Amino acid sequence: VQKQTAKSDVRIFTERMRASLSREIKLKDGLTHAIKNEQLFVVFQPVICSKSKDVSFCEALLRWRLNGDVISPSEFIPVAEQHGLIHSIGAWVLHKSCEMAANWTFDKAVELSVNVSVSQLMRGDLVSTVKSALAQSGFPAKNLHIEMTESIFAEDIEYVLRQIKTLQSIGIKVSIDDFGTGFSSLALLQSLSADVVKIDRRFIESMNQGGKAIIQATQHMASELGYSVVAEGVETPEQARILSAMGIECLQGFFFSKPMKIDELAEWHKGLKRTIR
Ligand code: C2E
Ligand code: MG
Ligand code: MG
Ligand code: MG
Repeated sequence: VQKQTAKSDVRIFTERMRASLSREIKLKDGLTHAIKNEQLFVVFQPVICSKSKDVSFCEALLRWRLNGDVISPSEFIPVAEQHGLIHSIGAWVLHKSCEMAANWTFDKAVELSVNVSVSQLMRGDLVSTVKSALAQSGFPAKNLHIEMTESIFAEDIEYVLRQIKTLQSIGIKVSIDDFGTGFSSLALLQSLSADVVKIDRRFIESMNQGGKAIIQATQHMASELGYSVVAEGVETPEQARILSAMGIECLQGFFFSKPMKIDELAEWHKGLKRTIR
Protein backbone atom coordinates (compact mmCIF):
# COMPACT_ATOMS: atom_id res chain seq x y z
CA VAL A 1 0.00 0.00 0.00
CA GLN A 2 2.84 2.33 0.89
CA LYS A 3 4.52 1.75 -2.42
CA GLN A 4 1.33 2.63 -4.26
CA THR A 5 0.94 5.85 -2.29
CA ALA A 6 4.48 6.83 -3.13
CA LYS A 7 3.87 6.12 -6.81
CA SER A 8 0.68 8.17 -6.93
CA ASP A 9 2.43 10.99 -5.05
CA VAL A 10 5.04 11.03 -7.77
CA ARG A 11 2.34 11.04 -10.42
CA ILE A 12 0.50 13.94 -8.77
CA PHE A 13 3.77 15.78 -8.41
CA THR A 14 4.73 15.40 -12.06
CA GLU A 15 1.23 16.39 -13.16
CA ARG A 16 1.49 19.54 -11.08
CA MET A 17 4.89 20.27 -12.52
CA ARG A 18 3.59 19.75 -16.03
CA ALA A 19 0.61 22.03 -15.34
CA SER A 20 2.76 24.80 -13.91
CA LEU A 21 5.29 24.43 -16.70
CA SER A 22 2.62 24.72 -19.35
CA ARG A 23 1.17 27.75 -17.53
CA GLU A 24 4.64 29.30 -17.57
CA ILE A 25 5.08 28.61 -21.28
CA LYS A 26 1.66 30.10 -21.95
CA LEU A 27 2.50 33.22 -19.95
CA LYS A 28 5.91 33.56 -21.60
CA ASP A 29 4.42 33.26 -25.10
CA GLY A 30 1.68 35.72 -24.24
CA LEU A 31 4.03 38.18 -22.60
CA THR A 32 6.25 38.27 -25.67
CA HIS A 33 3.39 39.95 -27.54
CA ALA A 34 1.66 41.71 -24.64
CA ILE A 35 3.09 45.16 -25.40
CA LYS A 36 2.39 44.99 -29.11
CA ASN A 37 -1.11 43.62 -28.44
CA GLU A 38 -1.79 46.49 -26.01
CA GLN A 39 -2.65 44.10 -23.17
CA LEU A 40 -0.56 45.84 -20.53
CA PHE A 41 -1.87 48.70 -18.47
CA VAL A 42 -0.84 50.63 -15.39
CA VAL A 43 -2.91 51.33 -12.28
CA PHE A 44 -1.97 53.75 -9.52
CA GLN A 45 -2.18 53.42 -5.76
CA PRO A 46 -2.01 56.64 -3.73
CA VAL A 47 0.37 56.95 -0.80
CA ILE A 48 -0.88 59.28 1.91
CA CYS A 49 1.13 61.71 4.00
CA SER A 50 0.06 61.03 7.58
CA LYS A 51 0.43 64.70 8.60
CA SER A 52 -1.41 66.43 5.75
CA LYS A 53 -3.71 63.44 5.08
CA ASP A 54 -3.24 64.23 1.39
CA VAL A 55 -1.58 62.25 -1.42
CA SER A 56 2.19 62.36 -1.41
CA PHE A 57 2.83 60.10 -4.39
CA CYS A 58 1.25 57.30 -6.39
CA GLU A 59 2.80 53.90 -7.04
CA ALA A 60 2.47 52.61 -10.59
CA LEU A 61 1.46 48.94 -10.62
CA LEU A 62 1.44 46.87 -13.79
CA ARG A 63 -1.51 44.78 -14.96
CA TRP A 64 -1.87 42.35 -17.87
CA ARG A 65 -5.20 41.62 -19.49
CA LEU A 66 -5.16 38.23 -21.22
CA ASN A 67 -8.34 36.81 -22.75
CA GLY A 68 -10.56 38.71 -20.36
CA ASP A 69 -8.59 37.81 -17.22
CA VAL A 70 -6.38 40.28 -15.41
CA ILE A 71 -3.18 38.52 -14.40
CA SER A 72 -1.32 39.63 -11.29
CA PRO A 73 2.23 40.98 -11.57
CA SER A 74 3.28 38.60 -8.78
CA GLU A 75 2.62 35.85 -11.31
CA PHE A 76 3.90 37.31 -14.57
CA ILE A 77 6.82 39.54 -13.43
CA PRO A 78 8.86 36.48 -12.33
CA VAL A 79 8.15 34.87 -15.73
CA ALA A 80 9.23 38.07 -17.49
CA GLU A 81 12.43 38.12 -15.42
CA GLN A 82 13.16 34.47 -16.15
CA HIS A 83 12.78 34.87 -19.91
CA GLY A 84 14.51 38.22 -20.43
CA LEU A 85 11.25 40.04 -21.15
CA ILE A 86 11.49 42.33 -18.13
CA HIS A 87 13.71 44.83 -19.95
CA SER A 88 11.20 45.74 -22.64
CA ILE A 89 8.28 45.51 -20.21
CA GLY A 90 10.12 47.60 -17.62
CA ALA A 91 10.95 50.26 -20.19
CA TRP A 92 7.32 50.29 -21.30
CA VAL A 93 6.11 50.81 -17.70
CA LEU A 94 8.57 53.67 -17.17
CA HIS A 95 7.59 55.44 -20.40
CA LYS A 96 3.87 54.86 -19.95
CA SER A 97 3.59 55.84 -16.31
CA CYS A 98 5.74 58.99 -16.73
CA GLU A 99 3.60 59.99 -19.70
CA MET A 100 0.41 59.45 -17.68
CA ALA A 101 1.74 61.24 -14.61
CA ALA A 102 2.94 64.18 -16.72
CA ASN A 103 -0.69 64.67 -17.67
CA TRP A 104 -2.42 63.97 -14.43
CA THR A 105 -5.08 66.44 -13.82
CA PHE A 106 -5.85 65.90 -10.16
CA ASP A 107 -2.74 67.39 -8.63
CA LYS A 108 0.47 68.35 -10.40
CA ALA A 109 2.51 68.13 -7.20
CA VAL A 110 1.80 64.43 -6.67
CA GLU A 111 4.91 62.34 -7.31
CA LEU A 112 5.21 59.03 -9.15
CA SER A 113 6.85 55.83 -7.95
CA VAL A 114 7.80 53.04 -10.37
CA ASN A 115 8.98 49.52 -9.50
CA VAL A 116 12.06 48.08 -11.18
CA SER A 117 13.40 44.54 -11.02
CA VAL A 118 16.93 43.75 -9.94
CA SER A 119 17.78 42.51 -13.43
CA GLN A 120 16.74 45.87 -14.89
CA LEU A 121 19.09 47.56 -12.47
CA MET A 122 21.94 45.16 -13.19
CA ARG A 123 21.77 45.31 -16.98
CA GLY A 124 23.28 48.75 -17.11
CA ASP A 125 20.79 50.65 -19.25
CA LEU A 126 18.29 51.56 -16.53
CA VAL A 127 19.61 55.10 -16.21
CA SER A 128 19.33 55.78 -19.94
CA THR A 129 15.84 54.22 -20.02
CA VAL A 130 14.73 56.44 -17.15
CA LYS A 131 16.27 59.51 -18.79
CA SER A 132 14.48 58.82 -22.03
CA ALA A 133 11.13 58.27 -20.24
CA LEU A 134 11.57 61.62 -18.50
CA ALA A 135 12.65 63.44 -21.66
CA GLN A 136 9.82 62.06 -23.79
CA SER A 137 7.11 62.72 -21.21
CA GLY A 138 8.37 65.98 -19.75
CA PHE A 139 7.75 64.55 -16.28
CA PRO A 140 10.15 66.20 -13.79
CA ALA A 141 12.93 63.95 -12.47
CA LYS A 142 12.53 65.39 -8.97
CA ASN A 143 8.98 63.95 -8.85
CA LEU A 144 10.05 60.41 -9.76
CA HIS A 145 10.83 57.61 -7.32
CA ILE A 146 12.34 54.29 -8.38
CA GLU A 147 11.46 51.33 -6.12
CA MET A 148 13.81 48.38 -5.82
CA THR A 149 13.60 45.48 -3.40
CA GLU A 150 16.19 44.41 -0.92
CA SER A 151 17.25 41.61 -3.24
CA ILE A 152 19.71 44.16 -4.66
CA PHE A 153 21.74 43.38 -1.55
CA ALA A 154 22.61 40.01 -3.04
CA GLU A 155 24.16 41.68 -6.09
CA ASP A 156 27.45 43.43 -6.72
CA ILE A 157 26.86 46.09 -4.10
CA GLU A 158 29.43 48.55 -5.51
CA TYR A 159 27.64 48.50 -8.84
CA VAL A 160 24.24 48.90 -7.20
CA LEU A 161 25.56 51.87 -5.20
CA ARG A 162 26.81 53.56 -8.39
CA GLN A 163 23.42 53.08 -10.07
CA ILE A 164 21.64 54.55 -7.05
CA LYS A 165 24.03 57.54 -6.97
CA THR A 166 23.54 58.17 -10.67
CA LEU A 167 19.75 58.10 -10.36
CA GLN A 168 19.96 60.48 -7.40
CA SER A 169 22.28 62.82 -9.29
CA ILE A 170 19.49 63.34 -11.84
CA GLY A 171 17.14 64.24 -8.97
CA ILE A 172 15.31 60.91 -8.71
CA LYS A 173 14.47 59.41 -5.31
CA VAL A 174 15.37 55.78 -4.68
CA SER A 175 13.10 53.61 -2.52
CA ILE A 176 13.81 50.30 -0.84
CA ASP A 177 10.63 48.25 -1.26
CA ASP A 178 9.29 45.41 0.93
CA PHE A 179 11.83 46.24 3.62
CA GLY A 180 12.31 43.51 6.19
CA THR A 181 11.51 40.52 4.00
CA GLY A 182 14.83 39.62 2.48
CA PHE A 183 18.49 40.31 3.05
CA SER A 184 17.69 43.47 4.92
CA SER A 185 19.90 44.84 7.54
CA LEU A 186 19.58 48.23 9.10
CA ALA A 187 23.31 48.75 8.49
CA LEU A 188 22.77 48.35 4.75
CA LEU A 189 20.34 51.27 4.80
CA GLN A 190 23.32 53.36 5.83
CA SER A 191 25.60 52.18 3.04
CA LEU A 192 22.89 52.47 0.37
CA SER A 193 21.91 56.03 1.28
CA ALA A 194 18.66 55.77 -0.64
CA ASP A 195 15.76 58.13 0.05
CA VAL A 196 12.67 56.14 1.01
CA VAL A 197 12.15 52.88 2.87
CA LYS A 198 8.89 51.01 2.48
CA ILE A 199 8.20 48.69 5.41
CA ASP A 200 6.69 45.45 4.14
CA ARG A 201 3.06 44.86 4.84
CA ARG A 202 3.72 41.67 6.80
CA PHE A 203 4.84 43.85 9.74
CA ILE A 204 1.74 46.03 9.55
CA GLU A 205 -0.38 42.87 9.39
CA SER A 206 1.37 41.47 12.47
CA MET A 207 1.49 44.74 14.37
CA ASN A 208 -0.14 43.13 17.42
CA GLN A 209 2.21 40.13 17.34
CA GLY A 210 5.56 41.88 17.49
CA GLY A 211 5.45 43.69 14.17
CA LYS A 212 5.12 46.99 15.98
CA ALA A 213 8.59 46.68 17.54
CA ILE A 214 10.13 46.09 14.13
CA ILE A 215 8.28 49.03 12.61
CA GLN A 216 9.37 51.24 15.50
CA ALA A 217 13.02 50.19 15.21
CA THR A 218 13.02 50.66 11.43
CA GLN A 219 11.34 54.05 11.78
CA HIS A 220 13.90 55.29 14.31
CA MET A 221 16.91 54.07 12.40
CA ALA A 222 15.65 55.08 8.97
CA SER A 223 14.63 58.59 9.92
CA GLU A 224 17.92 59.05 11.77
CA LEU A 225 19.63 58.16 8.48
CA GLY A 226 17.50 60.68 6.59
CA TYR A 227 15.04 58.31 4.96
CA SER A 228 11.34 58.93 4.50
CA VAL A 229 9.36 55.95 5.79
CA VAL A 230 6.31 54.40 4.17
CA ALA A 231 4.16 51.71 5.78
CA GLU A 232 2.68 49.31 3.18
CA GLY A 233 -0.56 47.35 3.44
CA VAL A 234 -2.51 49.66 5.74
CA GLU A 235 -5.97 48.11 5.75
CA THR A 236 -7.75 49.44 8.83
CA PRO A 237 -8.34 52.87 10.44
CA GLU A 238 -6.79 51.44 13.62
CA GLN A 239 -3.53 50.62 11.80
CA ALA A 240 -3.51 54.08 10.19
CA ARG A 241 -4.00 55.73 13.57
CA ILE A 242 -1.25 53.75 15.32
CA LEU A 243 1.25 54.21 12.48
CA SER A 244 0.62 57.97 12.35
CA ALA A 245 1.06 58.17 16.12
CA MET A 246 4.37 56.31 15.74
CA GLY A 247 5.52 59.08 13.41
CA ILE A 248 5.46 57.07 10.18
CA GLU A 249 5.50 59.70 7.45
CA CYS A 250 3.53 57.96 4.69
CA LEU A 251 0.82 55.30 4.59
CA GLN A 252 -0.24 53.08 1.70
CA GLY A 253 -2.95 50.47 1.62
CA PHE A 254 -6.48 49.39 0.88
CA PHE A 255 -7.77 51.49 3.80
CA PHE A 256 -7.08 54.58 1.67
CA SER A 257 -7.51 53.08 -1.76
CA LYS A 258 -6.88 50.07 -3.95
CA PRO A 259 -4.80 50.69 -7.07
CA MET A 260 -6.96 52.61 -9.57
CA LYS A 261 -7.16 53.44 -13.25
CA ILE A 262 -5.92 56.94 -13.91
CA ASP A 263 -9.38 58.33 -14.64
CA GLU A 264 -10.66 57.09 -11.25
CA LEU A 265 -7.88 58.92 -9.46
CA ALA A 266 -9.29 62.43 -9.86
CA GLU A 267 -12.75 61.46 -8.51
CA TRP A 268 -11.19 59.62 -5.60
CA HIS A 269 -8.99 62.62 -4.83
CA LYS A 270 -12.02 64.95 -4.73
CA GLY A 271 -13.57 62.63 -2.12
CA LEU A 272 -10.37 62.64 -0.09
CA LYS A 273 -10.21 66.46 -0.18
CA ARG A 274 -13.77 66.59 1.18
CA THR A 275 -12.85 64.33 4.13
CA ILE A 276 -9.73 66.39 4.94
CA ARG A 277 -11.80 69.58 5.05
P1 C2E B 1 4.88 46.01 -4.40
O1 C2E B 1 5.77 46.89 -5.20
O2 C2E B 1 5.25 45.79 -2.98
O3 C2E B 1 3.44 46.68 -4.52
C1 C2E B 1 2.48 46.67 -3.50
C2 C2E B 1 1.52 45.52 -3.68
O4 C2E B 1 0.70 45.42 -2.52
C3 C2E B 1 0.55 45.71 -4.85
O5 C2E B 1 0.24 44.42 -5.38
C4 C2E B 1 -0.66 46.31 -4.16
O6 C2E B 1 -1.88 46.12 -4.87
C5 C2E B 1 -0.68 45.52 -2.87
N1 C2E B 1 -1.35 46.24 -1.79
C6 C2E B 1 -1.43 47.56 -1.59
N2 C2E B 1 -2.12 47.85 -0.47
C7 C2E B 1 -2.48 46.68 0.07
C8 C2E B 1 -3.23 46.31 1.25
O7 C2E B 1 -3.68 47.14 2.04
N3 C2E B 1 -3.38 44.98 1.47
C9 C2E B 1 -2.89 44.02 0.63
N4 C2E B 1 -3.12 42.75 0.93
N5 C2E B 1 -2.19 44.34 -0.48
C10 C2E B 1 -1.98 45.63 -0.76
P2 C2E B 1 0.30 44.12 -6.95
O8 C2E B 1 -0.18 45.31 -7.71
O9 C2E B 1 -0.37 42.82 -7.16
O10 C2E B 1 1.85 43.98 -7.24
C11 C2E B 1 2.59 42.92 -6.68
C12 C2E B 1 4.07 43.13 -6.91
O11 C2E B 1 4.39 43.01 -8.30
C13 C2E B 1 4.58 44.51 -6.50
O12 C2E B 1 4.74 44.58 -5.10
C14 C2E B 1 5.88 44.56 -7.27
O13 C2E B 1 6.88 43.84 -6.60
C15 C2E B 1 5.52 43.81 -8.56
N6 C2E B 1 5.23 44.80 -9.62
C16 C2E B 1 4.05 45.44 -9.89
N7 C2E B 1 4.20 46.28 -10.95
C17 C2E B 1 5.49 46.16 -11.35
C18 C2E B 1 6.27 46.77 -12.41
O14 C2E B 1 5.84 47.63 -13.17
N8 C2E B 1 7.59 46.37 -12.51
C19 C2E B 1 8.15 45.45 -11.66
N9 C2E B 1 9.43 45.11 -11.85
N10 C2E B 1 7.45 44.87 -10.66
C20 C2E B 1 6.14 45.23 -10.50
MG1 MG C 1 6.56 48.67 -4.89
MG1 MG D 1 6.16 46.78 -1.61
MG1 MG E 1 5.40 43.63 -2.08
